[in-house]
Amino acid sequence: MRQVVFYSHVMSQFLTRFAPSPTGKLHLGHAASAFAVWQAAERAGGDVILRIEDIDTTRCRPAYTEAIYEALHWLGFEWSPYVRIQSEHFSDYAAVVRQLADLGLAYRCFLTRAQVGEDVFTGKPLHRRAEEDLLDKDTPFAWRLSLAAAREHLGQTWSDLSYRLATATGIETVKADPAKLGDIIIARKDTPSAYHIAATHDDDLQSITHVIRGEDLIDAPHVQTLLQVLLGWEQPIYQHHPLVMGPDGKRLSKSHGSIALADLRADGKTPDDIRRLTGFA
Ligand code: GLU
Repeated sequence: MRQVVFYSHVMSQFLTRFAPSPTGKLHLGHAASAFAVWQAAERAGGDVILRIEDIDTTRCRPAYTEAIYEALHWLGFEWSPYVRIQSEHFSDYAAVVRQLADLGLAYRCFLTRAQVGEDVFTGKPLHRRAEEDLLDKDTPFAWRLSLAAAREHLGQTWSDLSYRLATATGIETVKADPAKLGDIIIARKDTPSAYHIAATHDDDLQSITHVIRGEDLIDAPHVQTLLQVLLGWEQPIYQHHPLVMGPDGKRLSKSHGSIALADLRADGKTPDDIRRLTGFA
């Protein structure tokens, strides 16, 4: 069952969140994202929630979560005292997966990610009802959301799916195309949930009004909108900020060997230097 949490700031007109995954040290790309989130909240007179998205227990480490708090404090950010740690709420996400399965919208996928080719997305969908072993950690498959079943379930509503996107010129209505991401994974054999389920669930639970994140997640609203409509959740306004590029022209991320904030700090860099380096000075 969903846990009911009352947030003192649900009355706020503008509530956004910073939702890092503790899979490594925070780097300049994270700092840019944090500056974008806090700056937007400040301008709107709103609040920021910190959420730790650590559902991938194979990659996330508590030490990285501690390092996130430390780096954000160092940069001078403030957030509301309740921090949602997703790994403490797996049962919430499992309930969502069950709900989707009960609606006949989930199917078991026996292929690994690497093996999943176009056939899985374009072939006839396999609708299977949830079974008791849905979240059994030894179960050798992932569960995916069937877009074909979702389309059938929604009928005309499918073609009306849309979300609000904040741009430099105002709020645009964008037609959602969930097919952009294919049949997303909603649970895995080693993790009882997956990113889109946990993040979208929490955005609704926490009454997030504005989701601000990097352009690497520019397609996420297409499928997150579908989840919101299927599950009767609120639809926040989305906004994407440009990614910080490194000297090699590639985006700064852990995989590109980006410099950790802790290392820059140890090198004598100040929070103002980080603002300058990320274009937020
Ligand atoms: N946890 C995700 C990340 O660190 C961010 C997800 C989101 O903002 O929706 O990339």
